[in-house]
Amino acid sequence: MFIDLHSHTTASDGTDAPEALVRRAQEAGLVALAITDHDTFAGYEEAKPMAQAEGFDLVCAIELSTKHRAKTVHLLGYFLQGEPAGEFQEWLRQQQSMRKERNQRLVERLNLLNVRVTLDEVEAIGKTMTGRPHFARLLLQKGYVKTLQEAFDRYIGEYGLAYVERDEVPLAEAIGWVKRGGGISVLAHPSRLPVRRAEEEKQWVEEAVEAGLDGIEIIHSDHSAEQVVRYQEYARHFGLLRTGGSDHHGENKPDIRLGYGRDGNVRVSRALLDDLRGATIHA
Ligand code: AMP
Ligand code: FE
Ligand code: FE
Ligand code: ZN
Repeated sequence: MFIDLHSHTTASDGTDAPEALVRRAQEAGLVALAITDHDTFAGYEEAKPMAQAEGFDLVCAIELSTKHRAKTVHLLGYFLQGEPAGEFQEWLRQQQSMRKERNQRLVERLNLLNVRVTLDEVEAIGKTMTGRPHFARLLLQKGYVKTLQEAFDRYIGEYGLAYVERDEVPLAEAIGWVKRGGGISVLAHPSRLPVRRAEEEKQWVEEAVEAGLDGIEIIHSDHSAEQVVRYQEYARHFGLLRTGGSDHHGENKPDIRLGYGRDGNVRVSRALLDDLRGATIHA
């Protein structure tokens, strides 16, 4: 019995509406799905009534962008005993307003470069969780770039002309927030850690563990077989819980299939979710 613990809906930067994503999970024969939208529970909340009515195991989760050693690290939070505490929700609203400020500055920078876009236009695409992928889409729609990737490379990516840094929460702080919200914190796709060598990678994982990290995403569409083995070994070494998911974004990443990843490199057993739940009960 298979599951997928990493997916995005139209509430963040995926292209499947929340209920359609649950439907897709059912059609793929999955027995559980975590919606891990960036910075919002809106997609999970929208799909919840339908999942409940159909007895489908929908997991409340979130993906946060955090900062560690001046680099971005993605952290997953799983709330297995129901919704996170109100304090977490309040903190999340602050994160969302920081994002909105960043977006306003990004619009200003683009306008200085004669790229005519407005905050209203981009928010019409991205709504509550408007992010750079939505800017990329707008730039493509308006003909300023020929591909979504070009939008990042030329304008809004880290090395782009209009790049504006977002005030991301320190990794250790985000881990603390997830914990206090009653959740389990998991290092997302460790293959994307900004390191060159495996020793450095292990060091980063260790620092996250010291900050209270609970788990590591061992299975992911971007992970090679060697990486999965290495991350299993980190999990064993540091006593971390293990998770896995496709990181499905719909048409934004068309080669990644929910529950299967790239060419079937993501098959996640339900036993991993049972372990997560077991750990939450005993915490
Ligand atoms: P945001 O949280 O609004 O800053 O947007 C971050 C998202 O933009 C990431 O999760 C990626 O999906 C996408 N992204 C960031 N940098 C790049 C890049 N250089 N090329 C393609 N996509 C990117
Ligand atoms: Fe994303
Ligand atoms: Fe991510
Ligand atoms: Zn993701």
